[in-house]
Amino acid sequence: MSPNTYDVIVVGSGFGGAVAACRIAEAGGNVLVLERGRRWTPNTYPRNESSPWLWDQQHPQRHHGWADLRTFRNMWVVAGAGVGGGSLIYANVSVEARREAFESGWPAAITYKELKPHYDRVGQMLDVQELPDNQLSKRTRLVREAAQACGWGDCYRKLPLAVSFSPRYDPNAPDPREDWHSVKFINAHGMPQGTCVHCGNCDIGCQVSAKNTLDLNYLAVAEQHGATIQPLHVVQKLEPLQPGWRVHFDIIDSAAGSSTRDTATADRVILGAGSIGSTELLLRCRDEHRTLPGLSEQLGSGWSFNGDFLTPAFYGHRKISPSHGVTISAAIDLFKHPDINGQSVFVQDGGVPNLAYDFVHSRLKRAHRGLLGDFWKALAHHVDSDDPVEHMMPWFGQAIDAGDGRMRLGRCWFAPWHRVLRLDWSYEGSDKVVEAMIKAHEKLSDATGGRPFVPPTWSDLHKLITPHPLGGCNMGRTSSEGVVDACGKVFGYEGLYVMDGAVVPRAIGRNPSRTIAALAERNVALLIANVAGAWAANRKQPSSKPG
Ligand SMILES: Cc1cc2nc3c(=O)[nH]c(=O)nc-3n(C[C@H](O)[C@H](O)[C@H](O)COP(=O)(O)OP(=O)(O)OC[C@H]3O[C@@H](n4cnc5c(N)ncnc54)[C@H](O)[C@@H]3O)c2cc1C
Ligand code: SF4
Repeated sequence: MSPNTYDVIVVGSGFGGAVAACRIAEAGGNVLVLERGRRWTPNTYPRNESSPWLWDQQHPQRHHGWADLRTFRNMWVVAGAGVGGGSLIYANVSVEARREAFESGWPAAITYKELKPHYDRVGQMLDVQELPDNQLSKRTRLVREAAQACGWGDCYRKLPLAVSFSPRYDPNAPDPREDWHSVKFINAHGMPQGTCVHCGNCDIGCQVSAKNTLDLNYLAVAEQHGATIQPLHVVQKLEPLQPGWRVHFDIIDSAAGSSTRDTATADRVILGAGSIGSTELLLRCRDEHRTLPGLSEQLGSGWSFNGDFLTPAFYGHRKISPSHGVTISAAIDLFKHPDINGQSVFVQDGGVPNLAYDFVHSRLKRAHRGLLGDFWKALAHHVDSDDPVEHMMPWFGQAIDAGDGRMRLGRCWFAPWHRVLRLDWSYEGSDKVVEAMIKAHEKLSDATGGRPFVPPTWSDLHKLITPHPLGGCNMGRTSSEGVVDACGKVFGYEGLYVMDGAVVPRAIGRNPSRTIAALAERNVALLIANVAGAWAANRKQPSSKPG
């Protein structure tokens, strides 16, 4: 086998890609994972003004940072970039979809019952747990109080989180959110981690490794079974061979700010580049490179923002401290609730990192002694106790939106030869459900003395931002209905699969990562059942675990 030839190439290392790579490597498959982002570590997570915050898909050699923010006309979409995909940037909520979420819009084979064992497997791998009762933040308590005040007490619950908590953590200890309170341990996959200190940095990388991110479980196991993970490899084109696939990618040279082209081949390719990433890649292969002209006409259609909406509410003198505690902790499940016009909304608290505090801390690390050290220490204390948003509650949530967005390649007026990704989305189809979410947020705020502030980006402009893009390569029964079948196999192309959020054909109405991972567990198991005989002879004993 040539060094650039594999059984399977996986594109992307988020919730779909990491699961697929892990299970195939365990089954003895020779796997290459091509990931566009870096391999981040607690020492490199972005913290200050000179950090690499942004990813630019058009110029990745110049900007290959933490978050990929796509600014489409009426919708902004944010996603992570790095080994571990969205798990690095996400708020750790690992929740199952409701049984009813699968009752329409899915191929008949995909039901809650079918996914349940896979949901359980994901929960086990990510070591999902709830916030211990002695560690509830002011935000969590407000969610509980507001639910009770609205008569929705029975709809309140703590959320399952992929975070390692210590029952012995003392929130009343001096400086409770400082890193030294974290207790180091080795996880079930041999990776070093620490316990949560409730610093609120979940969306910008956990500096004490309390988040159970994919690089510390699924991807670690994949590597222990011989998988190769290549960061800073941006896949640009897929080319079918007779048989197999050639994958074309750019390798980013971070220091030089440049990139070089290369290729690798494999019997099979699994796309795990996310709703935007996998859809864009396939659109380019169909409409720009013309290597996959037979892809379904449905490609790009049926895109959903998962009903995400955030309403900040201001609480006068009451301290909410949204930057203290894990970013999301609890929910109020208003499933088809009559109080909100029978819409299904799932309300949550949403935390925000205290960037000023993190900035000062990054300075303190460099100059921790002498006059300068004393200065940064005093400032750190000040910005923690005088957080500029400490009286604000970010009410967040998801719902079942219309799922009527469409991605396509367009042309820009100043460079018409260059095809750019467009997202056609308009608020009309989802107006009712967003207004229902706002109604719930207003009721919860009013009941607890808060003043909700509906952002004019919605009330005046009808524009939204979502961290939960879903669809684009939707599952369907036939190619006239979708891009992939219920197993993630692309219609019309042997050996090509999509296993990520792009295949989810409708809104889940809850944080989607656990469903994406459970679908990947199911579909990669079916793939392995068909071919594992051929790989079994190569099955490796896992290499010794680090730590
Ligand atoms: C701030 C924030 C908070 C969130 N909080 C939660 C939460 O608490 N719970 C939850 O369930 N969900 C949450 N999400 C959403 C969650 O992160 C996504 O739903 C999930 O990561 C999607 O999984 P995926 O496998 O489809 O794609 P991703 O996890 O996004 O993985 C795709 C991977 O592919 C890589 N990639 C893309 N294009 C290419 C290419 N051309 N070549 C090579 N690699 C490529 C990307 O860099 C990325 O690593 C959050 C998202 C954000 C942004
Ligand atoms: S709150 Fe802080 S310590 Fe806890 S998981 Fe989030 S980033 Fe890590």
